[in-house]
Amino acid sequence: MGLSKTIWTNPTEFLRNQQPENPVLFFSPPVVQATARRFLEGFPGLVTYAVKSNPGEEVVENLVAAGVNGFDCASPFEIDLIRRLAPDAAIHYNNPVRSRVEIEHAVKRKVMSYSVDSASELAKLIEMVPSAGVEISVRFKLPVAGAAYNFGAKFGATEDVAVELLRTVAAAGYIASITFHPGTQCTDPNAWGSYIREAAVIAHNAGVRIARLNVGGGFPNHRALGVLPQLEAIFATIDRVTTESFGEARPALVCEPGRGLCGDAFAVAAKVKALRDGAHVFLNDGIYGSLLEFSQIGIIDRIDVLDPQGQRRSGALQGHIVFGPTCDSVDRLPGDVPLPVDIEEGDYVVFQGMGAYSTVTNSRFNGFGELGRCTALSLKL
Ligand SMILES: *Cc1c(COP(=O)(O)O)cnc(C)c1O
Repeated sequence: MGLSKTIWTNPTEFLRNQQPENPVLFFSPPVVQATARRFLEGFPGLVTYAVKSNPGEEVVENLVAAGVNGFDCASPFEIDLIRRLAPDAAIHYNNPVRSRVEIEHAVKRKVMSYSVDSASELAKLIEMVPSAGVEISVRFKLPVAGAAYNFGAKFGATEDVAVELLRTVAAAGYIASITFHPGTQCTDPNAWGSYIREAAVIAHNAGVRIARLNVGGGFPNHRALGVLPQLEAIFATIDRVTTESFGEARPALVCEPGRGLCGDAFAVAAKVKALRDGAHVFLNDGIYGSLLEFSQIGIIDRIDVLDPQGQRRSGALQGHIVFGPTCDSVDRLPGDVPLPVDIEEGDYVVFQGMGAYSTVTNSRFNGFGELGRCTALSLKL
């Protein structure tokens, strides 16, 4: 189903009127634009969007409309998407491992910024990417702190390797920069502080004055009830620690939020297919659908249940075992999910904060996974 041209007031109005049989993804353009402005006004440097978190064209178009003009791309597909939707935007190709064909593609599309975390991949870039005006950022890692997921498990050089890489980048005539990713849904500003201090040590030990420091993504969205993302506190820590650590050699800053920009602009409504013997809740969406991330970083607890007329179920909350629609037993939401005791078959369970890593990881396993789409002014029920 394509994006409906009708713009609804909110999810409640849509659910009451349409009573959809498939799960529905609600998108609020005003929310994504307001979030973009919060980053653009608050972050002390260039804001780029990590396309992988939600490559929906409506997301990219609204970010561009709000003033975002840089994008972190991880593949030729994402590079082409951005060249088509935002031809003048800066593209940072910050997936540190690329095939030769992928590098060729990026050079042809005039990508001017790359990241690396290993000598072998840097050698490929030096061989294939002309250095004039091109930035190469060395990605390093620290033991994980403060995030919901360990990004250092796959990418990032240790300090010694990063020092060597940075020297090689500078000697080969590229613009030398440093980057890191503190891990997704990182709620602790001090995680950025630790990484920035280490970046200054790496630059100092390499004897290289870096042009830019890309502080990654990881900015949280609103997943836990009552725990609002403290973006301004994170921005302030980044600003302060960069000056403290680099002094007059302070580099320009870049960030590349995915989740932080798109997460709160979407909600998902799943229908209760069955209450098996009054106990197990079966939804029409699950781990193989748009709820995959719940199995990796935990469930969002901003959940409401509406009856088919759009009235909120107000019974006391009680832990429920909740399954998705496929026949696989791992298709279960983690833990006991607090849902009202008066929940019934045919109700809608609405999850807020669902924009990141949801549409992109939705599979069609078992023939499920078709998502209805709805544009809504507000996501408040
Ligand atoms: C995934 C990723 C991001 C975005 O991460 P979020 O946690 O969604 O902000 C940014 N940069 C790189 C290099 C990534 O791999």
